[in-house]
Amino acid sequence: MFDANSGLVNRGGGVVVDTQPDLHHARRMIELFGLVRPSMPTRVINTNEDCDHMGGNQLFAGAEIIAHRTVPEAMRHAADPRALRELVERSERLLPRLPLQARHPGALACAQQLRQDFDFEGLEPLAPTTLFDERCVLDLEGTEVHLIHVGPCHRSGDTIVHVPCERVVFAGDVVFRGCTPLGWTGTFQRWQATLDLVLWLDPDVIVPGHGPVCGIEGAMEMKAYLDYVREESRRWFDHGLSAVEACGRIDLGPYGEWRSPARIYMNVERAYREFRHEPPDAPWDLASTFDAIYRVAKARGMEVEF
Ligand SMILES: [Zn+2]
Repeated sequence: MFDANSGLVNRGGGVVVDTQPDLHHARRMIELFGLVRPSMPTRVINTNEDCDHMGGNQLFAGAEIIAHRTVPEAMRHAADPRALRELVERSERLLPRLPLQARHPGALACAQQLRQDFDFEGLEPLAPTTLFDERCVLDLEGTEVHLIHVGPCHRSGDTIVHVPCERVVFAGDVVFRGCTPLGWTGTFQRWQATLDLVLWLDPDVIVPGHGPVCGIEGAMEMKAYLDYVREESRRWFDHGLSAVEACGRIDLGPYGEWRSPARIYMNVERAYREFRHEPPDAPWDLASTFDAIYRVAKARGMEVEF
């Protein structure tokens, strides 16, 4: 479930884009980057406040860590390993108690996946040291790196990183590739406008937040997915179905092949929130959200994956 990409712009002092979810993965990333750059990069960019994009920040102590102005406050909720650890520990206490297991099967299944995929050892979230508002340009000895705040699409701090001379965009979680996107805050409209911006930048290479590197087809596929899910949500919303019921009816077509297809629940629920004129930053109740994803997966005979 924590499979975020990282990148390295190996010019000037070097810039790392996103630092992996935990120290184990971050150390492996540093090792790999060391193959092309012997010295530690002097800058880090966090493309959003989720823990899977900033878990390794502490290994870059002394580096300039750059993120959007909203990130330090938002990461206190989104990137707190103590909250994840608590979820896992609570699930361990609840597991033997069958009635509770029946009430929150998704939260328990999610905690089990966390336990498998995520190493809490030694994690001390390190906040960004440099904040920017709308845009920020870094000059790496002549190579410009443009940071553009585009959130909230998936999170409030969503930032894309454009390296114009190399025609590369690190899209963060604005683009998921081959895996089902999910958004915590923001609107479909904002997300679509950001994808239009990515297309307008006309990169040769897009590094998605999750999934393999791609060209502009990755952004186009995301646009098509979001359009499709919003339209289908409207249809079933008008029929009076709940978001979970709608997820049982929507023909996933090719999107059924993407990883974690049951995460469609969050996209349908987000559309429903818009139709109900609820605020885009209304908090999600984690246990019931994971339960809903679990129910959708079970109802459709899919593997439960968050
Ligand atoms: Zn992510």
